[in-house]
Amino acid sequence: MHTLSARQRRTLARIAAAAVLLTLLHWVPVPESFPLWTLYLMPYLIIGGDVVRRAVGNIARGQVFDENFLMTLATAGAFFTAEYAEAVFVMLFYQVGELFQNIAVGRSRASIAALMDIRPDIARVERNGTVTEVDPEDVTVGEILVIRPGERVPLDGEVLEGESSLDTAALTGESVPRDVGPGDAVISGCVNQTGLLRVKTTRPCEESTVSRILELVENAGEKKASSEQFITRFARYYTPCVVVAAAALFLLPTLILAMVPQAPGFLAGTSWRDWLHRALVFLVVSCPCALVISVPLSFFGGIGGAGRRGILIKGGTYLEALSHADTVVFDKTGTLTQGTFAVTEICPAPGFDRETLSDLAAQAEQHSSHPIAQSLRAASPAPLDPTRITAVEETAGSGVCVRMDGRQVCVGSRRLMEREGVTVPPVEGTAVHVAVDGVYAGYLMLSDLPRPDAAESIQALKAQGVRRVVMLTGDAPEAAARMARQVGVDEVRAQLLPQDKVAELETLLSSRPAGGRTVYVGDGINDAPVLSRADVGIAMGAMGSDAAIEAADIVLMDDRLSKLPEAMAIARRTMSVVRQNIWFALGVKLGVLVLGALGMASMWAAVFADVGVAFLAILNAMRCLGPVKHL
Ligand code: ADP
Ligand code: MG
Repeated sequence: MHTLSARQRRTLARIAAAAVLLTLLHWVPVPESFPLWTLYLMPYLIIGGDVVRRAVGNIARGQVFDENFLMTLATAGAFFTAEYAEAVFVMLFYQVGELFQNIAVGRSRASIAALMDIRPDIARVERNGTVTEVDPEDVTVGEILVIRPGERVPLDGEVLEGESSLDTAALTGESVPRDVGPGDAVISGCVNQTGLLRVKTTRPCEESTVSRILELVENAGEKKASSEQFITRFARYYTPCVVVAAAALFLLPTLILAMVPQAPGFLAGTSWRDWLHRALVFLVVSCPCALVISVPLSFFGGIGGAGRRGILIKGGTYLEALSHADTVVFDKTGTLTQGTFAVTEICPAPGFDRETLSDLAAQAEQHSSHPIAQSLRAASPAPLDPTRITAVEETAGSGVCVRMDGRQVCVGSRRLMEREGVTVPPVEGTAVHVAVDGVYAGYLMLSDLPRPDAAESIQALKAQGVRRVVMLTGDAPEAAARMARQVGVDEVRAQLLPQDKVAELETLLSSRPAGGRTVYVGDGINDAPVLSRADVGIAMGAMGSDAAIEAADIVLMDDRLSKLPEAMAIARRTMSVVRQNIWFALGVKLGVLVLGALGMASMWAAVFADVGVAFLAILNAMRCLGPVKHL
């Protein structure tokens, strides 16, 4: 539970004291001759002393139109017209509003920090034969960590010894246990659940997943959405305008009244005091607090709520763009599909046998991190021998060529084979071809299954207003078209190299309707250029992948496609809360301005409306933190 800070408690005490004094002064009879203002000055200074001090200090520094100044001017004016109680009340309520905003902002910061409570406090390292507890920042790469069940993994590393299952909930929002054993990578921020692990660190603390994520979330405030910038700009003009209007509202009628004492119409029966009072109402209303606080708070809530669900958003601007998504472009392999292939068939060409073919593919792919390479390695029983291969050359979106045992071995797509001058027989489906010294050695068939939630996620996106769903892939056209039908993608562009994907995206970007945004969803493996070119680049399965975290605007920690409609729903809700808050606050302020000019709203009403609006807007903004319905 969040408790008030010392400063907030002091403010609360001052509010209580001033309220008690104000009530006493209202009920206790004071002799006529007594200078009443001296009595009211007491609660006024208790509650508003700091505001007055700040106002004077700011003027000395050349900053005039801030809320301290406005409140001081308005209440001083009230004192001047002998509305002592009103002056104190306005200050009192202003402070109530400030306190409330302060708590709201503090609480949302705290809750985001709590959501992102992934930073481990200690690391247990083996040093000189004993295990010592140290600050994770003091651990260097290559040291051995001991992680007990129930503890959080402090740094990224690789398991040396032990079997366990890791809970990734803090990173992904979903508690799916990940089983790890010797040789597997472990990611900082996960919680070790069952077994004792000995882990060799592979990254220093500041480069580990936890630090990257926290940095990303902490910097999210800098990439402001245009509605956020609008409000800041708006406030810059709004406040001086209303202050000028207030001056005019007082000065013009007063001048006319001075020249024409029996003025007719709306001036009839009024005095300069009335107009001064109406002008003071303007001053109170000119405070832009409710707007200025509630809009960033809504974005903050949206970003925080998404973060808790394993959706990291790098700034309000991407949340805003995502809410206007018109076209969603998917990468195929590893994004729409699971990216873990099973080798279903091994088809050697004449002169090669199945074992040789499978071994050639696995050995050649030793250094590739492409999902295809991983499945080829997994499918070959023979151990990998790094001394056999040299001169590794990987072409993104095509495959790899290496020198192995003095021969040139190429493993990859039909396109790669054509480049090497190798003729390939027609094959249906996702196949990887192998050639040795320019001679075709056969192919391995891979099953590339769609993710289980792909179809329903794409349907949910369409239901949320996405008009076009496109798939870009380096795979062969038939395999691509079949996959597209299975998951409900309307348009396919196949056989693309990474640079072709950028060109395709450019075309899509130029044909989007005005106001519509183009979103690209990839897995961060060889599609970083496309990720950064799209209006919104979304990388999924980012746990442990630096490239994806770096290049994308929105990062899905795990690789569930259903996070996509969820992110979209969060974006849309956040934007609707932002719009509601802007219109609500502006509407109420405008109403009070009109009533104030007509002499129908007192300063009490004005400050009450202002604090009330801020209060409701903040409550509304808090809705952004909660879960959304998205499928
Ligand atoms: P996608 O666009 O579907 O994500 P990629 O651009 O990663 O696919 O790869 C496109 C094609 O290039 C793959 O279908 C495969 O045929 C080939 N390819 C890419 N990298 C490799 C590799 N390391 N080994 C074998 N084939 C590869
Ligand atoms: Mg890919």
